[in-house]
Amino acid sequence: MRKRKFEILFSLLFGLALLAALWQTASRNRTPVTENSGFHPVMGTLAQVTVVAPDQRIAQICIKTAFETMAQINQSMNDRDPKSELSELSRTAFGKEAPVSPDLFAVLCASQEYSRLSGGAFDITVGPEVALWRQMEKTGIRPTPEQLEDARAKVGYEKMILNLQSQTVQLAKEGMKLDLGGIAKGYAVDLAIEAIRQKGALGGMVDIGGNIRCFGRPPAPAKDWIIGLQNPRAETVLKRIKLNDFSIATSGDYRRYAESEGKKYSHILNPATGDSANELISVTILAPTAMEADALSTAVSVMGKQRGLALIDSLDEAEALLITADRPDELIQTSRAADFLID
Ligand code: AMP
Ligand code: MG
Repeated sequence: MRKRKFEILFSLLFGLALLAALWQTASRNRTPVTENSGFHPVMGTLAQVTVVAPDQRIAQICIKTAFETMAQINQSMNDRDPKSELSELSRTAFGKEAPVSPDLFAVLCASQEYSRLSGGAFDITVGPEVALWRQMEKTGIRPTPEQLEDARAKVGYEKMILNLQSQTVQLAKEGMKLDLGGIAKGYAVDLAIEAIRQKGALGGMVDIGGNIRCFGRPPAPAKDWIIGLQNPRAETVLKRIKLNDFSIATSGDYRRYAESEGKKYSHILNPATGDSANELISVTILAPTAMEADALSTAVSVMGKQRGLALIDSLDEAEALLITADRPDELIQTSRAADFLID
């Protein structure tokens, strides 16, 4: 009798195990779905999210979470919003240590590292000079030498003092203004990618205004994620670039510039002078994280062709594709950039 009970129990368990195995195989073989959000306004530009997920429900959760993540970073790091954490910091941190959130502190620390790496070409304390540029964008009138001199005195990454222990920030000069426009989008892309990975995506791509990162499985039948590099002087694709678990960012003067007396002035400024960077019209950086690609593309725009290429060549995992104002038809590349190009 006992033996029979045991036999029944055994067949039941065996049956259950078999069912579980069958179900698992079936779900593994189900083709993943690809979902694209379309473009939506985020951080003063347009963002899109593409997700490859086991099913529609997961894909939609991923997209929703990615946009929530971006909105959260924007709320903290947007210098144009007087209520943002960043604006509050600029207002209150002169001469005293102000506490900031872990995300903001992480970006401030990274910014200072990119400042050191680029010899000051990348500098988030550029805010007072950016304010003058924005005035010129509105009025078409160039800032006076006195205005520029006054702004320059309030710029300099070494004047932003970060206390790693207390996670506080102090600004050494009155009137300093922090601007994360050259790095926060990349940081938000990295966080959004992390968020969709955690929500169960098999692959994904996040793009905020040309700051792009992708991971995992691309939409079938492609083997890689493909990104089009825009021709800065026409609405055409100049090159197609393949990426796998990598990031790309493009800085350029072709989307945002101010105009004065018929001349174009890039929104990327040389912090040392307050002048617009004008040697390169398009700077694309490939790097492991979107934050790195974002910061380096801004830095190289300021550094120019020679110093910029030297910087990127000195970094193990970064590549650059540059176009100069002099020769807009020529694409200048670092040594291993060709590995990423399709045509
Ligand atoms: P991006 O489009 O990433 O190159 O960033 C450009 C934005 O970064 C500008 O619109 C400014 O808000 C800010 N910015 C301008 N010049 C610099 C600079 N030299 N270093 C860091 N940020 C900058
Ligand atoms: Mg940038």
